[in-house]
Amino acid sequence: CPMTLHIPFDNTYARLPDRLFVAQDPTPVAAPRLIAFNNALADDLGIDGPRDEAELARVFSGNEVPEGANPLAQLYSGHQFGHWNPQLGDGRAILLGEARTPAGRFDIQLKGAGRTPYSRGGDGRAWLGPVLREYVLSEAMHALGIPTTRALAATETGERVVRDAAMPGAVLTRVAASHIRVGTFQVLAARRDEEGLKALYDHAVERHYPGAKDPVQFLDAVIARQARLVAQWMGVGFIHGVMNTDNCSIAGETIDYGPCAFLDDYHPMTVFSSIDRQGRYAYANQPDILVWNMAQLATALVPLMPDTDTAVEQFTALIHAMPARIEAHWREIFRAKIGLSSEEEGDHALITSLLELMAQQGADFTNTFRALATGTAPRDQFTDRDTFDAWAEGWQARLAREQGDPQALMRAASPALIPRNHRVEQMIQAAVAGDYAPFERLMQALAAPYDDPEDTFADLTRPPAEGEHVRQTFCG
Ligand code: AMP
Ligand code: MG
Ligand code: MG
Repeated sequence: CPMTLHIPFDNTYARLPDRLFVAQDPTPVAAPRLIAFNNALADDLGIDGPRDEAELARVFSGNEVPEGANPLAQLYSGHQFGHWNPQLGDGRAILLGEARTPAGRFDIQLKGAGRTPYSRGGDGRAWLGPVLREYVLSEAMHALGIPTTRALAATETGERVVRDAAMPGAVLTRVAASHIRVGTFQVLAARRDEEGLKALYDHAVERHYPGAKDPVQFLDAVIARQARLVAQWMGVGFIHGVMNTDNCSIAGETIDYGPCAFLDDYHPMTVFSSIDRQGRYAYANQPDILVWNMAQLATALVPLMPDTDTAVEQFTALIHAMPARIEAHWREIFRAKIGLSSEEEGDHALITSLLELMAQQGADFTNTFRALATGTAPRDQFTDRDTFDAWAEGWQARLAREQGDPQALMRAASPALIPRNHRVEQMIQAAVAGDYAPFERLMQALAAPYDDPEDTFADLTRPPAEGEHVRQTFCG
């Protein structure tokens, strides 16, 4: 039957030098079935036509390539856990193309769509768990107001994927401002492909930073977005889990939701990812890792500068200025979380002393800050309530000097709802057993994370009970 779906493609990446990618069609799957489709996002992308479930399932599992698509796998490399890997690339993802919208062009990518020349030993597939995890977490991140890739669709493939056991296969359709990574620049710089590097740079400037006049301004602009992003992650207790340079977006979006998770009880060195044995990507290390990643981008941009010495000098200055830039965002975000719109000398100490108490007593990150915002017994979040009361005395004294509406500021800075890790795991287990109700329910609840949740969602605000803890996450 003829396709009715229309996507306004304009595939500029496919017009770059062809060594930046390989043309690759998705591999059809046995029995595509639609799990979820993001109608609001589809509207934003200008996706037209009657939304027929069977057709959506075929298109967003890779069984039918929509008109105007130009499927390809992108080349990149990167530092994984600090170690250089000269070639990575989309091993299980295929870019269908870019939708041209009034807000710019957006990549539409199928994740888990079959093998590509970059698959190495992998099967090119994804299983249901990571697909639903990314769907829920990326849409939750968007609702939290934090730049992120989006989820357009999730489909079942009707095939099994072998991991520890045979698991149901699935495909995620991901939407991104672009999938250009630090590692995309790195691979071309490492190959001394200056022409390719220049083409990628021009493309990235046109697409994301049209105001940048040279690589120095470009780097500065990427750092500006990434510095704010990592501070926003800190503000909601998000741990990315794999901040490799290939998972670091030039457009400044949260990308590559793998073993990521949100904090329950606050401890700065929290790690969920099973493969992060050294804790390189622990919660509190994320700002430092971002600085490291931006230094790798700077290195890759050097060949674009007319004079190497000047480049090194100017790039180094930008990298050295990063900790203070990130810290400025961090302070603003955490000041808002305790109701402070103005800035005073002692504010930083007020914030860090609260975080210290929380870490010592394992207070729940989300619920402690939300309780401050709503005034609902924040002291109950602590085991030693006297220590909180002592802190709160200083806090109240400081709040007395605030103009404006601290409560409103705090409510907008501290969500009531996050996708708690144990709820995400419970949702995945239910879905594997064929029950998508917990998925639908999480999606519904997480759409308005700063509102006071309806009573029916009260359970989603609770930290894991005894026996509910999920302390490890996996890459999928
Ligand atoms: P990630 O850890 O998801 O950032 O992926 C690192 C690299 O491994 C990327 O090049 C992926 O495309 C590749 N990769 C991950 N899973 C698979 C898979 N199942 N099949 C093929 N390649 C994969
Ligand atoms: Mg090619
Ligand atoms: Mg990745």
